[in-house]
Amino acid sequence: MNSTERNDVASGFGHIAVAYAMGKTTSSEFHTSRFWWLTVACCLLPDVDVIGLVLGIPYEHMMGHRGFSHSLIFAVMVGLLVPRLAVPHLPFRSRSFGVLVLYFSCVTMSHGILDAMTDGGLGIAFFAPFDSTRYFFPWRPLIVSPIGLFEFFSAWGMGVLWSELLWIGMPVTFWLIGLKVMRRVRGLPG
Ligand SMILES: [Zn+2]
Repeated sequence: MNSTERNDVASGFGHIAVAYAMGKTTSSEFHTSRFWWLTVACCLLPDVDVIGLVLGIPYEHMMGHRGFSHSLIFAVMVGLLVPRLAVPHLPFRSRSFGVLVLYFSCVTMSHGILDAMTDGGLGIAFFAPFDSTRYFFPWRPLIVSPIGLFEFFSAWGMGVLWSELLWIGMPVTFWLIGLKVMRRVRGLPG
């Protein structure tokens, strides 16, 4: 079985780690449990397209795996909808609302960006629905994750964890430490 035949998804751990670092970068005024639950939901949401595989939508189809739900347009759509759920009474025209639109768009988009750095499957349809071309980044250090739980606890799964620890876990840890130091120096919370 080659890498385009296995119905791969990126490991949830890497997506959540990056989203967590993004969340910590925002002001602590946003940090409610609802904010964090929505952050996790948004960073994993693009992989709902695996349902399409069950329904018979081909991987390479615009609505297939790593298709429209991994695109920039989808991320912006999610970013526009989610702030209402995160902070229901926030005025639409407020600065905080704008920050949250940008934040949830970026968190959703981070999924496709990480997937484009994996070594298997098809690329990401970043510009769907206008262009169905699949893209990868030239640098792809992340090992693509198996879809099944059984396969995850295998040598392949361990390789995935190792590559994510190295290329996601380490930069995220350095980022969070840097953030903490910077905030302490400035006398800010969090
Ligand atoms: Zn994905």
